[in-house]
Amino acid sequence: METIIKKIDRNKIDEDVIEEAGYILHEGGLVAFPTETVYGLGANALDEYAAGRTYAAKGRPSDNPLIVHISHFGALERIVKEIPEKAVKLADRFWPGPLTMIFEKNELVPYGTTGGLDTVAVRMPSDIIAQKLITSAGGYVSAPSANTSGRPSPTTAQHVMDDLAGKIDMVVDAGSVDIGVESTIVDMTEEPPMILRPGAVTKEMLEEVIGEVAVDRAAILEDSKRAPKAPGMKYRHYAPKAQLILVQGEEKEVVRAIRQLTGAKEKKGFKTGIITTSETANAYPFGILKNVGTKKNESSIAKNLYRVLREFDEEDVQYIYCESFAREGIGEAVMNRLVKAAGHRIVRAKQITDLQSYMRILFVSDSGNCRGPMAAAQLKKKELLRAYDIDSRGMIVLFPEPANQKAEAVSMSHKITLQDFVAKPFTEEDLDGDTLVLTMEESQKEKLKSDYADLEAVSDIRTLGEYIGETGENAQVKSAYGQPLAKYGEVFEQLDVMTDKLVEKLNKEAKEYDSDWM
Ligand code: AMP
Ligand code: MG
Repeated sequence: METIIKKIDRNKIDEDVIEEAGYILHEGGLVAFPTETVYGLGANALDEYAAGRTYAAKGRPSDNPLIVHISHFGALERIVKEIPEKAVKLADRFWPGPLTMIFEKNELVPYGTTGGLDTVAVRMPSDIIAQKLITSAGGYVSAPSANTSGRPSPTTAQHVMDDLAGKIDMVVDAGSVDIGVESTIVDMTEEPPMILRPGAVTKEMLEEVIGEVAVDRAAILEDSKRAPKAPGMKYRHYAPKAQLILVQGEEKEVVRAIRQLTGAKEKKGFKTGIITTSETANAYPFGILKNVGTKKNESSIAKNLYRVLREFDEEDVQYIYCESFAREGIGEAVMNRLVKAAGHRIVRAKQITDLQSYMRILFVSDSGNCRGPMAAAQLKKKELLRAYDIDSRGMIVLFPEPANQKAEAVSMSHKITLQDFVAKPFTEEDLDGDTLVLTMEESQKEKLKSDYADLEAVSDIRTLGEYIGETGENAQVKSAYGQPLAKYGEVFEQLDVMTDKLVEKLNKEAKEYDSDWM
């Protein structure tokens, strides 16, 4: 079948297009059209056969009920058993708009439309084109999102065509939708009424009108394994082709974690994408970035979310890391959709930044020609599961000095040579998300932290002792400068024990880090 595309101007609606589309619907055909939330795939809701075609075109499981769209309140009483008082109040306040209510259905509504349920979901969209079309089609239009089941919902006519071209009769194209995520669904057959899917109409907004409203926990919790009450919510929804991973936590921590995750993946040869916001778009050195909006305005994120997910399908990326957003206003709906798109793959940023996967290990001492190079040389000889760039730097290096002679002598006696070593000064370039900076003493750590305070978000500066969990006397590696050779020997031994522990810790992390998506 060839799918006709009809452009329509919201400000100058061509009634002929409405009439033609209405006729197709009336006759049992399928027409995709804009609503204020997302594009819907319309069919005559009271025609069981038409509803069946919707499922086929979308590849939608047939137990996933459709929402019936109406264009005036009077249409409601013809298809439901009763209209609870609270529903009248909610309709009064939020219809037309992004709110779907569930009622006991009557015999006029076929089971093909409700997925076999005795209840029916009803919504009155505010989009003027949608309203006119519903009226023209006879008053009852079932309209699930006009995407292939499992793909992100369509927010433009092009998205609809990408998924459904050749499978439906017509697309009415009126440009981008306004809200960008699907309607709030409230089950009015429950007391108190229960939110089954969060949307632009929030719990607070509902409660202002009718008092207490419950929330189906399965609809909002990221770790819920319970079957949600809206049948459609149990399917992996809104999913992009690449693996999406949602990174939660404080913004600073999230940025660090995503830098690490993308860095690690890119170094392994994978392509990565990042869903960023205007606030953080400049913070990432790796990956293909797509800006979804601004954290200052959750609506901007809702509006762009599905477009960005779809755009990533055109990119050659295997992993998409996404920042998390405040669950305020429509943010709750955004997070709900993201959790689903991620197939519940959610990481806490802190967990990642604690479980560092470094590319580079840098030992830092004062003059940079004794403790640092000894530790680096020792570590290089040990059995590490991963390849690291291991090096050392000094805090005060005025010229490229060779290794301290006593340090070299002690090292030689352990078959380690520092012969070609020249000390290098620590610089700003040594701080990035991939480098673990390990100082010998607390004082050096404090100095680096204050000298490079503005780079704190991307650097990890610890003392060697602290990093391996050493406390007390053993935590500091004191300089042997000016003391007899034996003292240098002791420092070498101390570092040997410490670098053994370091190897243990790094290897343990390398193993944990090698899960498939982190
Ligand atoms: P969509 O049309 O793609 O926005 O999906 C409609 C959503 O509404 C799905 O998650 C359905 O499971 C849900 N839904 C529709 N009718 C009912 C109903 N009678 N009871 C519970 N959930 C419903
Ligand atoms: Mg849908």
